[in-house]
Amino acid sequence: MIEISSPVRVRFAPSPTGFLHIGGVRTALFNWLFARHYGGQFLLRIEDTDEKRFIPGAADDLMTSMRWVGIDWDEGPDIGGPYGPYVQSVRSEQGVYMPFAQQLLEAGLAYMSFTTEEELVQMKAEAEARGIKAFRFRGPERDWPLAKQQEVAATGKAYTIRLKVPAEGSTHFNDLVRGGDDGIRINNSELYDIVLIKKTGMPVYHMAHLVDDHLMKITHVLRSDEWVASTPYHVLLYQYLGWHAPTFAHLPPILRQDGHGKLSKRKDDVSANRFWERGYLADAMFNYLTLQGWSYDDHTEIMTRAEVVERFTIDRVQSSPARWNPAKLLDMNGIYIRALSTEATADAITPFLQRANLVPTPINPSHRQRILELTPLIHERLKELGEAPELLDFFFVDIAPPSAELLIPKKMDAASTKAALVEIHASLSAVQEWQSAEALESSLRALCEKLDLKPGQLFGAVRVAVSARTVAPPLFEMLIALGKSTTLNRIQSAIGVL
Ligand code: GLU
Repeated sequence: MIEISSPVRVRFAPSPTGFLHIGGVRTALFNWLFARHYGGQFLLRIEDTDEKRFIPGAADDLMTSMRWVGIDWDEGPDIGGPYGPYVQSVRSEQGVYMPFAQQLLEAGLAYMSFTTEEELVQMKAEAEARGIKAFRFRGPERDWPLAKQQEVAATGKAYTIRLKVPAEGSTHFNDLVRGGDDGIRINNSELYDIVLIKKTGMPVYHMAHLVDDHLMKITHVLRSDEWVASTPYHVLLYQYLGWHAPTFAHLPPILRQDGHGKLSKRKDDVSANRFWERGYLADAMFNYLTLQGWSYDDHTEIMTRAEVVERFTIDRVQSSPARWNPAKLLDMNGIYIRALSTEATADAITPFLQRANLVPTPINPSHRQRILELTPLIHERLKELGEAPELLDFFFVDIAPPSAELLIPKKMDAASTKAALVEIHASLSAVQEWQSAEALESSLRALCEKLDLKPGQLFGAVRVAVSARTVAPPLFEMLIALGKSTTLNRIQSAIGVL
């Protein structure tokens, strides 16, 4: 059992470069669970120092996605907190980062680098030509006294500030998820002098997140595994600045469904808001995402939020990759939908019916009542709320009569189907009480015998005649919900088709 000394402070620090990817939600969720389980704070920080990749509106979008899944934060850009502001571009403007870069320069642990992009490309090419496969940049200025660097800077030459990585030795860190008991050790010769401050004066991620994690008193850094390779730089920076480093826990990647590569924003349909647009329940999403890299035991899957919070220990976060499984997510959503009451399901599908223009916005009492009547017909089968309009549209709007091809059951032809529908029309017209599924069923079963047809054939013809589809809610409940006159009219139109 890994001991975690509380109180903990963790953060989710997304870069607003587009819609929040479901992998990002997982990272946020694990941080949130960690904070809630071990007792502490979870904060949200926007890391927008990369002007090239910044997308306006993305920060609001990601907050909406997080709220949807039910992740709340104790400090953040919208609600503030004792260590604000929580947006890096604002912090940068306030001059939060520069003094620390200055401190490193003065201590000779960072340097002004005047190497231009073009020179860098050339140096790389030359190194390659000399047979050096991995070029690890170390600028000539790293050995200059600061005064000389400042002299050149005073001439107006543009510069970045780079970390001076030791040429020898190694850098070590522990990781609660990866690296086993010995942690991870990297030879410094495999590192290079990374940029900390860009020519524009803007800090890069490595510098900004680290200063912020320190100032915001972050105790544990739970983040995507893509940052493992950068962590040695961060460890060096903590040492150089004389700060205590937080504890790292790199979360397992989520692989694509076929196991080939990581889930990707570009290739996979995984932006968080797509899921609520399609009618995933937040509880189902929450539950599913907890299992993307964490498990309680080897079989428990359905858990409430409170149960997950209680059970979420870092020991059970796996180091092996998780696998995205849309079919499983869909099934889980179905389980959560079935657990809803009829009223709650009706409420949940209403916006989808409204978007499909099947019911008015705002909803009126009679439509609300109608949705309540129809909900039980589809409740069991519904896996995405977004399927509701397609399953229910023929109750709300007139349907075009189905094609003869669809109408004619197996082993029948147009003439026999037509004859059967004429008989069906007559039998159903004679039914007085249009409220009992049993009554409707026995009248049609009697007809099967009379016409020597299998129930599958006859019921199938009725189903298609009234709904224009072969897969529809349970037949007799459907006929009751449609009402006698609509049922008979649609059967009449079907007869016309044949
Ligand atoms: N801004 C970084 C990202 O979006 C945060 C990484 C971290 O959590 O340190 O990946």
